[in-house]
Amino acid sequence: MRERLQRFMTGRYGSDQLSRFLSFVSLALLAVYLFTGWWATYIIAFAVILLNLFRTLSRNTTKRYEENSRFLVLKYKFLNLFKKGNRTAGGTRAKADPNFKIFKCPGCSQKVRVPKGKGKISITCPKCGREFIKRT
Ligand SMILES: [Zn+2]
Repeated sequence: MRERLQRFMTGRYGSDQLSRFLSFVSLALLAVYLFTGWWATYIIAFAVILLNLFRTLSRNTTKRYEENSRFLVLKYKFLNLFKKGNRTAGGTRAKADPNFKIFKCPGCSQKVRVPKGKGKISITCPKCGREFIKRT
């Protein structure tokens, strides 16, 4: 039986991140259907399962691979939406550095990173050129 399945799967695409995601979506939809009884969710879940099966058994591996890459890019963009709040002027590492202090320019709200422990210093905004005095 196992051998037969292996022979059946030869040259076919198989599973990837997108197929795992689709399985998850179809299960989630079925769960929604069980709780709510909405027929639409059942039909969509069934469609997703069929699509997933089609992708897994497909022999057009190049196209399936492309779909998976597109999915991964979308996923990456989606996850980045939630990370936006952490960005600073000097990139993502700036915030974690304890030797620097970050000030907001009073003119344009650009975040400026300056070394800590220098006393009162004049800071020039790299974006709009405005000067402001801060204690570090
Ligand atoms: Zn500025």
